[in-house]
Formats: sequence, structure tokens, C-alpha cells
Amino acid sequence: MSDNKPRLILVNNLLFALTLLGALVLVPLYGFLVGYQAEALWVALLFWLWSGISITAGYHRLWSHKAWQAHPVVQWLLAIGGAMALQNSILHWSSDHRRHHKHVDDNQRDPYSAGRGFWFSHIGWMLREYQPLTESTYNNVRDLQKNAVVMNQHNHYGKWVLATNVGLPALVGWFTGDVLGMLLLAGVLRLVLVHHGTFFINSLAHIWGTQPFSDQHSSRDNGVLALVTFGEGYHNFHHTFEYDYRNGIRWWHFDPTKWLIRGLEKLGLAKGLRRVPADRIESARLAMQLKSSQRLLADHHTAQEWLAKLEAEYDHLLSRLQAYYGEKQRQLKLHKHELDRSARQQLTELHQAFEQQKRQWQSLRAQAHAQLA
Ligand SMILES: [Zn+2]
Ligand SMILES: [Zn+2]
Repeated sequence: MSDNKPRLILVNNLLFALTLLGALVLVPLYGFLVGYQAEALWVALLFWLWSGISITAGYHRLWSHKAWQAHPVVQWLLAIGGAMALQNSILHWSSDHRRHHKHVDDNQRDPYSAGRGFWFSHIGWMLREYQPLTESTYNNVRDLQKNAVVMNQHNHYGKWVLATNVGLPALVGWFTGDVLGMLLLAGVLRLVLVHHGTFFINSLAHIWGTQPFSDQHSSRDNGVLALVTFGEGYHNFHHTFEYDYRNGIRWWHFDPTKWLIRGLEKLGLAKGLRRVPADRIESARLAMQLKSSQRLLADHHTAQEWLAKLEAEYDHLLSRLQAYYGEKQRQLKLHKHELDRSARQQLTELHQAFEQQKRQWQSLRAQAHAQLA
């Protein structure tokens, strides 16, 4: 069997093994024998933020999904940070990622299909020639091939990687007076943390968590993962609405990538932020709730009765949803002076009616589920 496995990619195997070994052995050893300067810790933290968010805001939401547009200065900063994250060039990463979305869970065509298990989707897919480079590899990123920043980084990728991962930490370390300490913390340890943070999105975020928006793919929403991935843990939302610049849509969802993009917009450095209309998001969520109730009740002897009630309540809920969002949409198109008090009042009432119906729907679901207990 093992004879049929594709060839090992030596450079990737060495890179992942040696950096991990360095982070686990050399980093604590140096701390124990020599000790680190506070500056090295702060620079490592800064580089972790910079390289991590360059992947999420840049590689992922900007270039792979075109969910927003960035000022060239921001693009350069994200391209440099992305090279520091050492996850291949923007062009290559985006090509893989667009295929991941298009063929998600297809074990042949999704480059890091979760269907092939945790190890494969986390890191295994990069250790062997599972997806050899062909002429068609970059067919799905023609738009990015017109971008000067993207192509500069792609064509000089090796130099960019060395400059950001070795040159920059060494230079900063030379200024602070501890080159080796800086290389270990802001270079090696920081890189390993960024690597596995991103890799968890391909592995754990397709295994662990909830599916509030769709069960058509294995992706999951997971607030814990969001904490270590700059907000990318809301992966079920992301796979359902991939062009939205947000991954966590509630204001309290931990999504620093979203906050950064919005902040850049306020500064005039970002524009064209794409949002999926709220009624589509709400409909998807409610449809999944109906589906999960239907599934739970399916084998129960009183199921028919409850299902009929639930479906009737659900239809009612959808009509309330349409009434509210339809009126909201209509009012958004009007000029301010055309909106009188009664129009505003009407919208408030439609919103309240929708919220009220939503509560009723939740309470009926709770009653139906309690029947199973
Ligand atoms: Zn994506
Ligand atoms: Zn995914």
C-alpha cells in the first residue's frame, strides 16, 4: 500500500519537523540557560499578530475571497506578513483555498479535505505530492495574477521568506543585543504557533463545533478556535457565506480580523466590504433549526403531531421575517425626508412581531424536544 503513496516533499517535512523541534526543545532550553529579554517577547507577540492576521485578513478574506478591497500600502504589509507566516505564496495559497471551497469534502479535489481525517487536513496534505503542480494549478486565480503585489511576492517568494523569517528577527535582535533569543522567539516559536493556528482551521474547524447555518459541508462554528485564529473559528458561517468579510457576525463574536478590516475602512484604507444580507443569514439559521428538530423527532411516536405544529409555526416565522426585512429593504431605498414617523413606527412593529414569533418558535421547539426526554 505505502508504495502507492505520492512522493514525500522533503523541504516541507524538514521545515515542519525542525521548527517544531526547535520550539519544543531549543526555545525552553535557551530560556533556561540564558533567558530572554522582554523585548524578544514583545517582538514575538507583534510578529505573531502581524503574520497571523496577514493570513486571515490578507491571504484568506482579501485575496482568496475578495470580501474587501485594500489600499496598496495595506496590501504590501499583508503580503510581507504573509511571507513571514510561511504558508506558500498568496497566489498558491489562494488557488488551494478556492479549490477547498469549491470542492469541500471531496477527497480527490479538495486539497485538504476533512474527509481524509484530522492528520491529513491538518498537515499531512503538505507532506507529500498529493497535488502536483500542473499548468492548470493557477487557473482559478487569474484575477490575482494581475495584481502586482501578489506577483512580486510569488516571483520572489524565497527571498521574501528568508528576509521576514530570518533577516528581520536577526536585525531586530541585533538592535536589542540578543540575536539568537530573538530568532528563537520571534522566528521559530512564533512561526510554529502561526502555522498550527491556521492548520486548525482546516482540521479542527471541520470536526469540532456546531453547524448553525448549513450541514451541506463538514465545517463547524467554534468560538474557542476563533480565539487562537484571529476570528476564523466561525467556519460554518464562512463556508455558507464565503464572500462575507466577517466570519463571526454577532458583535460579541471574537473576530479581530473583522475588526481590523472595519478599522481600516474607517481610516480610508479599505473599501468594498461585502456583507451577506441579514435576512439570508437569518433564514439559513432558522432552516437549520427546523431541520435539526425534524431529525430529532423523526423516530418519536408523537412526531407527526409535533412536526405539523412546528412546520406551521415555522411558516408563520418565515412570513414575519419576510415582512420585516422586506419593509426594511424598501425603507433603505428611500431618502431620509421620505421617511415619516409612521414608517419608522411600522418597521419597529414588524421587527417586534418577528422577534416575538422567533421566541414562540424557540419555545415550541423546546417543548417538542422535551417530549424526547
Ligand atoms: Zn475561505
Ligand atoms: Zn474549510
